[in-house]
Amino acid sequence: MPYLEDFNNALAQMNVSLDNEKVLKLEAFYNMLIATNLHTNLTSITEKSEVFVKHFADSLSILRQASLLALDKNIRVVDVGAGAGFPSVPLKIALPALKIVAVDSTNKKVNFINSCVEKLNLKDIVAVHERAEILSRGEYRDSFDLGVSRAVARLNVLSELILPLIKPQGYFVAYKAVSADEELKETKEALKKLSAKYICTDSFEIGSIGTRSNIIIKKLAPTDKKYPRQGGKIKGSPLC
Ligand code: SAH
Repeated sequence: MPYLEDFNNALAQMNVSLDNEKVLKLEAFYNMLIATNLHTNLTSITEKSEVFVKHFADSLSILRQASLLALDKNIRVVDVGAGAGFPSVPLKIALPALKIVAVDSTNKKVNFINSCVEKLNLKDIVAVHERAEILSRGEYRDSFDLGVSRAVARLNVLSELILPLIKPQGYFVAYKAVSADEELKETKEALKKLSAKYICTDSFEIGSIGTRSNIIIKKLAPTDKKYPRQGGKIKGSPLC
């Protein structure tokens, strides 16, 4: 199967592996994505090989940092702006012990994730229809071991959306394309205000996509009450 070859090559390139049973679950998830995408816009990428490499393998790239992020433990993970479930659903399939909350402000995407969770019989993963900046004003504040986010906003905006949800000593990983250095530069001061610090950038090659970077940030202390600011301000005048 060419898609499996491309997928396995992409995983091997990243030094990640996945057993066959999990690959079959990803295949079932792919079928649901494509079936729902016929009437609900979830992804512009639909070709099987491309979905397996650009969505699935990319989502699994944080497995490269499994020990730093304690991914083999039953840690609590939040995926901000999960969309159709990236990276949260492939992560849950690969690492069943994770306890995941996938957050998105678009209801049809949340419904899609929750129906996949049910059909794939996944446990300890729920999608929540809310804006991240509202969620972090409630019970989820300062509570997650790990936050992940892919293709949602520039790093300075994303940091204010996600860091208030992370507990002290927890991590935030931003899945980024090559422009990571520039985004990081404009976020240095914002990280101080949000009681967090930059740890490292993990850059790697993936299939035909080319270079990708995961920026790893650590939360140091509970978030100051000032943050997050009101929704409009977060995007309109990013912290700097
Ligand atoms: N992470 C997915 C989706 C990226 S599209 C992927 O990699 O494919 C960005 C998503 O973020 C959209 O689904 C949008 O609804 C959501 N989003 C944007 N701002 C948000 C916010 N403040 N809180 C929650 N979700 C948000």
